[in-house]
Amino acid sequence: MDYRVLVIEDEAQIRRILKNALVDEGCHVSEAGTIKDGLRQVGSTNPELILLDLGLPDGDGISFIKEVRTWSDIPILILSARFDEKDKIDGLNAGADDYLTKPFGSGELIARIRALLRRKTRLGEEVSSVIQFGNCSVDFANRTVFRNAQEVHLTSIEYKLLAVMLSRPDKVMTQTHILKTVWGDSYADSTHYLRIYMSHLRQKLEENPSQPKHFLTEIGVGYRFKQ
Ligand code: CA
Repeated sequence: MDYRVLVIEDEAQIRRILKNALVDEGCHVSEAGTIKDGLRQVGSTNPELILLDLGLPDGDGISFIKEVRTWSDIPILILSARFDEKDKIDGLNAGADDYLTKPFGSGELIARIRALLRRKTRLGEEVSSVIQFGNCSVDFANRTVFRNAQEVHLTSIEYKLLAVMLSRPDKVMTQTHILKTVWGDSYADSTHYLRIYMSHLRQKLEENPSQPKHFLTEIGVGYRFKQ
């Protein structure tokens, strides 16, 4: 992985662990301990990925995400402590791509980073209108869904939910984001709708709906589509 990664974290010990894990993978790492320095380094080192701690001495990471998102879609991975639960969701809603809860192993860190960078590469390629996962294939141009070569009928809400989930493979999406996108702003809190329709999708598209492999629950946060 020959990527430029910016680590924004105020605890020197954690920063060192992150840096070592990334350098071992062949990444070029720059470091910042504050939001102010982080923003400066985004400009000067032009990173391809940012690892962001939420609790920083000169403010919270959410304001950093909002600021960066006004001009860049660079992948941002949040590193959050357990007590940052609400901040983590605010961070995802502000435009972060994924999160890891501390403490985490370097294996998990590298796996998440690979997934984010893979997705970024894929977005840069020509977008295919057909997405395949498991035994299913979704053709967005024709609005058709097949499973084991049999067409699957989806209601318009189910299809919209499927399209939202498939739009960002590997990315965790908050319940609020999905509800607003599929149903509209006034449904941001109607989590029971989401639960019901997600179970419809699983019934129709998963091999074993009670142990889904593609439409995964992120407990307390939302859902993740895995191809
Ligand atoms: Ca911190």
